[in-house]
Amino acid sequence: MRLCLIEPNLVRKIFQFFRAGYSYIEMHLIWTIKRNCEKFKCNSCMSPEVTATPVGSRDVTGLPMGKLKMSFTIIVHRLKCHNCGAYRMEKLDFLPNQKSHFTKSVACCAIDLRNEMTIKAVSEHLDLHWNTVKDIEKIYLKKKYSRIDLSEITAIGIDEVYIGRKGFLTVVRDLTKGAVLFIGNGKSGDSLAPFAKRLKSSACQISTVAVDMG
Ligand SMILES: [Zn+2]
Repeated sequence: MRLCLIEPNLVRKIFQFFRAGYSYIEMHLIWTIKRNCEKFKCNSCMSPEVTATPVGSRDVTGLPMGKLKMSFTIIVHRLKCHNCGAYRMEKLDFLPNQKSHFTKSVACCAIDLRNEMTIKAVSEHLDLHWNTVKDIEKIYLKKKYSRIDLSEITAIGIDEVYIGRKGFLTVVRDLTKGAVLFIGNGKSGDSLAPFAKRLKSSACQISTVAVDMG
């Protein structure tokens, strides 16, 4: 394995960070990365007048290259803002959320691959847990369906779908076109609350509601 071939541009894609080192163990490349000092900004007021103190590290899975697994050890800092006085952890913009243990690129790739592959195959390819791939997909679908225009909808069907140990999902469909309009967690009335709110604000005229069609 010639590391020099895969090194260029790899970590530079993670904007504002530089490579502080790497280790390579059995087809697994781990980059240690750290934000450039001059790139720190306060999360609250965006002032660059901050003092950054390293407080630990985070391990995050990146996209594999062929059979080579890739991950990052990120040196994380706590920021003290001299402008507004805020005292917060630095924000890692390349993660889907601040608790994620994989990058946004990994989440996007998982979504794309799910068109062609099973959850199991995607989780093995991206070195993620089965539940993680499932959760990535769920978040993506929720966002996607929250943008659907409901103003022309006149008939909806509501299904409760059993998804194993995690319980139920409530799926709302447009009965005219068959399109999925909403997916909620669980099967109680509460799971439909976000959808009900959207219906109200869309001013649609629903005349038919079919429940539990199996
Ligand atoms: Zn500030």
